[in-house]
Amino acid sequence: MKYKPVKDRRCQNEKCQDHSKFGEGNIIRHSKYKTRLGRRRRYLCKTCKKTFCSTKGTPYYRLHKSRLDFDEVVQMTVEGVGISSISRIKCFSWNTIASWQYLACQAADKFNDHKLKGVELMELQADEIRTFAGTKKMPMWIFAAIEVWSRLWISKVVGNRNYRNIKTLLNQVIDACRIVNPFIFTTDGFEPYSWATKNLMSSICLYAQVIKKRRKNRVIKVERRLIIGTKPKIEQLLFESEDSSTINTSFVERLNLTIRQGCAYLGRRTACHSRHKDLLANNLELQMCYYNFVRPHSALKFGDETRTPAMQAGLVKKQLSFREIFMAVAILFWWYSVFMRMLVQVERFSWFSVQQQQLMKEAPEFDVLTVERKDC
Ligand SMILES: [Zn+2]
Repeated sequence: MKYKPVKDRRCQNEKCQDHSKFGEGNIIRHSKYKTRLGRRRRYLCKTCKKTFCSTKGTPYYRLHKSRLDFDEVVQMTVEGVGISSISRIKCFSWNTIASWQYLACQAADKFNDHKLKGVELMELQADEIRTFAGTKKMPMWIFAAIEVWSRLWISKVVGNRNYRNIKTLLNQVIDACRIVNPFIFTTDGFEPYSWATKNLMSSICLYAQVIKKRRKNRVIKVERRLIIGTKPKIEQLLFESEDSSTINTSFVERLNLTIRQGCAYLGRRTACHSRHKDLLANNLELQMCYYNFVRPHSALKFGDETRTPAMQAGLVKKQLSFREIFMAVAILFWWYSVFMRMLVQVERFSWFSVQQQQLMKEAPEFDVLTVERKDC
C-alpha cells in the first residue's frame, strides 16, 4: 500500500539531512500505537528511515498524564499560582509541576523567537521592575519594552540595572521590529537609557524621559524631558498618535502590573520568590507568550471581537491556545522563519542607510537637544 506524504510534519531526527526541510514529501504515515488515553499516530521519514510520534519535539512528548492536565498547569502558572499551590490543587508532585513548567517555558521561548518578528514600530515605551532572585541581598531587574499601538510586549531582559542590559533590550527591539517612520520612545529618567538610545537609535526615534518625583510614596511632580528630537516634531507625532496625547510611560507601567500579577515569583511579601535568575527569565518567557498570543487585551476590543496584541500587530490571524502553541513548536515553518528574518534584515539595512544619509543632510534641522540631568 502506498502512503501519501504528510505535508505538515518535518523529520524530528536531528542527524537526518532533511531535518530542517518542511513539506518535502519525505514524511509518511507509519502506524498507530496505543496509549492509556487512546490511539496515536506514528510517522516515518523516508530519508533516514526513522519513525517518530506526533508529539515528538513538543512539551507533550512522553507525558504520563493527559495534555489537558499539562495545559491547566501552564494556565495556572501564567495566572500567578505558585508551584506548591498547583501541586496541591492538581495532586501532582512538586517536581512534576516544576519539570512541566520548564518544558512549557522552553517551548514558549522557541515560539517567541519564531513569531516575534517584523512588528511595525509606532511608539515604544520601556521600563524596569525591581525584584530579587535567591535572597533579598541580590536585587534583580526585569526590563520590558512595549509597542504601544498594538500593546505588544516586544522584548524582556532579566539582570542587573546596567547599560549592557539596556543595550540588549534595545537590540532585541531593533531585531524584532520593522521601522517605517520615526517613532516616539519614552522611558523613565535612568541615565543609561539615554546613552543607549543615542548610540543605537538616535537616527530613528524621538526620545523623551518622564521623571516622577515622589514624597512619602506619592507622586508630587511629573517632569517630561525631550532628549532627542525637536518639540514641533514630537507634538506632530503625538497629534497623530491614537493612544498618547502627551509624553508618558503609562502603557509600560500597566504592563508591569500585568507581569507582576501573572508571575508568582514577583508577588510582594511572598514565600515563592524566584530562587534563581534563570527560573525567573524562563517564567517571563512563558508570560510573554501568554500575554502576546493567548490572552485577549481589554484595550483591543473592536465590537464583539477582543484581540490579542499579536493579532493587532498582524503576527497571527486568531487568538491562539497553549495547545496550538506547543504543537506548533514541532512543525514550525523553518524556511519561512529564515525568509522572514532575511526580509527584515534587508528592509532594516535599506531603511537605516536611507535614514543615515538623510540625517547627514538634515543635521542642522534634526536638532538634538541634550538636557542636563538634575537629581530626582
Ligand atoms: Zn529523517
